[in-house]
Amino acid sequence: MYGRRRYRRSRRRREELKGYVQRILVGVSVLCIIIVCAAVAFKTRRATQSVEAATALMQASDVTIKTQAVAKTGVEEDGTLAKYGSDGQQENEDVSEESEPASVIIIDPGHGGMDGGCVSDDVVEKDINRMIAARVVVKLKDMGYQAELAREGDDFIDKTERVEKANARNALLYVSIHQNFCEDDSVAGIETWYDGTDTGRDSGRLAQLIQQETVRATGAVSRELVSESELCVTSKSNMPSCLIETGFLSNRDERSKLITAEYRDQLAEGIAGGIDKYLNPRTMYLTFDDGPSEENTDRILDILKERNVKATFFVIGEYVRKYPETARRIVREGHAIGIHCDVHDYKTLYASVDSYLEDFRKAYDTVYEVTGVETKLFRFPGGSVNAFNKKVREEIIEAMEAEGFIYYDWNASLEDAVGKECSPDKLVSNAVDTARGRERVVLLAHDRVAHTADALPDLLDAFPEYRMEPLTVQLKPVQF
Ligand SMILES: [Zn+2]
Repeated sequence: MYGRRRYRRSRRRREELKGYVQRILVGVSVLCIIIVCAAVAFKTRRATQSVEAATALMQASDVTIKTQAVAKTGVEEDGTLAKYGSDGQQENEDVSEESEPASVIIIDPGHGGMDGGCVSDDVVEKDINRMIAARVVVKLKDMGYQAELAREGDDFIDKTERVEKANARNALLYVSIHQNFCEDDSVAGIETWYDGTDTGRDSGRLAQLIQQETVRATGAVSRELVSESELCVTSKSNMPSCLIETGFLSNRDERSKLITAEYRDQLAEGIAGGIDKYLNPRTMYLTFDDGPSEENTDRILDILKERNVKATFFVIGEYVRKYPETARRIVREGHAIGIHCDVHDYKTLYASVDSYLEDFRKAYDTVYEVTGVETKLFRFPGGSVNAFNKKVREEIIEAMEAEGFIYYDWNASLEDAVGKECSPDKLVSNAVDTARGRERVVLLAHDRVAHTADALPDLLDAFPEYRMEPLTVQLKPVQF
């Protein structure tokens, strides 16, 4: 018995011991799991943050990036620069070495150190560039952006190295500041250079806004926007970038202005203002009615594709049946499609509520059969308020809205279907005049009109403050 009990006891003790060990093991395992989970969660959070940062970068034009300024401008107004006048306040913040956020705007004072750039009457380009750039950085920081200089002091840093550093930092924008020189000393004014071959980066819009705002701030001659993909700044940068030549040192008048702090401040105001407008775009919804058309819709689609712009097409059923491939192309290339009507005949359409609904249904079914899209967007021929629909208007709207359809009128127009034929230039100026700088513009155009397709490239250039988007059901529609 004893032996057996002893055996049992020792077995129990062994089992108890085993129990302890097991419990300890379980405890340790749980602890390990907790540690691993915490590590994974931490990593995931970091990964999410960097994905967010990358997304923010990709959507640079979609977001307002307002962050705390961390870097130092680093330009001192020392005695040697006294001849250029005083730039007033100085920045004396500490340099933060810790984080490298993706929202930094790099302002590059061209040249530096042994590379002075152009020189005229003892005025050296690198110095003027540096002082303007420092003011731009101060202004951007005042606006809440994070901005830094590509060279802090008067150092020689190779321009390729500057751009590569900006790429490595995932900079948001890169703007290089230079002065011009011409044998003919009567030449004066502002030029901005950008890479026009890479439309996805939107450098053209940035260059255009900087050019526009510096000219506005200084009253200087607006020379030209130059598309040049071979420059170091424009060809090697991964982010939207441009190079501004703020004036001609060879021109006596301009040189005498550039050596004053006041004029440099105006230039800086323009550059910072252009950057701010670029990062906070207004929205334009480009809409085309009455297509698809055999002659023009594909031409319009080609231009939109090249410029990476998405629009909305309010189509006519009978033409969708006639040109189904073009209708499919509209959808395939990411544009929104909406219903205009089946046959564009005001009298029949608005004869009664039923005749309107019957026509709409036909167009709707055609668009669905041809493109597979069940669209909720529509636009009344003639707009929601017109000379033909007075008696039936309210009832039609009620019936359509009951089925979840949303109608979109417009608040700006090319006036390309008002009867008389206008030149492409006139169409663009009509659009600018009627848009009147609104925050949100729904622009009416007609893809059946040849001059509209002719005007489209200039039209897109005429609205640098705007980002172009297709209409969606989530938007509050513009209605008369
Ligand atoms: Zn129409």
